Amino acid sequence: MTPARTFANRNIALFGLGGSGLATARALAEGGASVSVWDDNQSAREKAVAAGFAPVDLSKVDWSAFQSFVLAPGVPLTHPQPHWTVERAKAAGVEIIGDIEIFCRERRALAPNSPFLAITGTNGKSTTTALVAHILREAGYDVQMGGNIGVPVLDLAPPSDARVHVIECSTFQIDLAPSLDPHVGVLLNLTPDHIDRHGTMENYAAIKERLVASASFAVVGVDDDFCRGVCARLQAADRPVQAISQARSREPACCCYDDRKLRRQVALAGEWRVTETLVDLTSAQALRGAHNGQNAAAAFAACDWLGVAHDDIGRGMKSFPGLAHRMEQVARRGRTLFVNDSKATNADAAEKALKTFENIHWIVGGKAKEGGVEPLRPLFSRVTKAYLIGASSDDFARTLDGAIAYERCGTLDIAVAHASADAARSTAPEPVVLLSPACASYDQFPNFERRGDAFRALVQDLVKAGDAS
Ligand code: ADP
Repeated sequence: MTPARTFANRNIALFGLGGSGLATARALAEGGASVSVWDDNQSAREKAVAAGFAPVDLSKVDWSAFQSFVLAPGVPLTHPQPHWTVERAKAAGVEIIGDIEIFCRERRALAPNSPFLAITGTNGKSTTTALVAHILREAGYDVQMGGNIGVPVLDLAPPSDARVHVIECSTFQIDLAPSLDPHVGVLLNLTPDHIDRHGTMENYAAIKERLVASASFAVVGVDDDFCRGVCARLQAADRPVQAISQARSREPACCCYDDRKLRRQVALAGEWRVTETLVDLTSAQALRGAHNGQNAAAAFAACDWLGVAHDDIGRGMKSFPGLAHRMEQVARRGRTLFVNDSKATNADAAEKALKTFENIHWIVGGKAKEGGVEPLRPLFSRVTKAYLIGASSDDFARTLDGAIAYERCGTLDIAVAHASADAARSTAPEPVVLLSPACASYDQFPNFERRGDAFRALVQDLVKAGDAS
């Protein structure tokens, strides 16, 4: 834990007692603050009681007694409308912050030059965060990883010059961290997401930009217009910035992914050309696909800045196991590869897996998002057959009709059995049984993790049965 000593002897209000909220309350109390915690949800309050806090109904207290108000990142700060606690804090002139802000203040007090990497973007945050942490650990660094992934930031060991913090930041967390000042800031990409919670795309992008604008060194993707704008503004302000891309780019000195390699573009006779190969990713199984090329390029730039040897970066990328539920290669049975991409809860995410593999036996469906699988039509030629599950089956059957072979399987167990039997009969060199549902899971599973776990268990049973026979 990082005790929040910069808050010693202060009166703090805290709303939202989910995982990170409770961790923050503990860090504040340990640091010597007096913390008044509250949550609308009774079971969350009961957990706080079990952790030794006495919840205080914040709607009934005088807010002028507080010096800071800590809001959990899931609670609306601005849109669709500010939460009532936000209104109360503003009316009383109390600052509104989150756990990342507290971490930043502790870092400035304890070890202002300690390596602190903050990673954001619309997509690829968790993969890049886990990849950077893996490379650094394998290279012998003392690494603390957390934030929006896994462990709440204040549950991590405190900052020190000999320890690297690799922290995934959501837009909500950045919005609640007015003095965020990472050593290295990474902004991967910007596409419309959670706009209901940020008002406009411009506002969403401006919040994310703050993470790199305040960094000592910025790593910025240049594959979309918003990020290109961010990169140009940093360059114009003479800030240290490394552009990265998932493809060859017009951006001078860009670190880009090209032909399954990370390359640096260098000037040659007045033109920008791709020359120097930095890392060959051909055997990096968990980093397949151009989107992972973007993640790998960002990880390379961040680790390079920290002084990690290029060979060590390459080794770490090759041994990176990947994250569960994101194109996770769960097993091989004969020539068939089984891939769990349960995190693909919309067509945009499923597109990445469909672009990465061929000869796909595609398990798809669930609670459909607007537009269904129609946007994936250009990739249907990569699919050998689709196996429909869940509530979207009628809808998706209409889209697939006449375009690709499909079968209504209803449930995941039947889909896995039929898809693997068909794949085993296929003459393709590497048939792929892919769960990439392009749907939410709620019709059949509590969340995408449970759906992916179920897929993995079914595949492992199949493989075991195959070994036994
Ligand atoms: P996040 O933490 O930002 O949600 P993840 O690393 O968990 O991102 O990846 C979630 C999904 O987003 C992946 O399954 C993949 O489909 C897609 N994805 C991953 N990296 C990228 C990227 N750099 N650009 C676009 N999409 C990506």
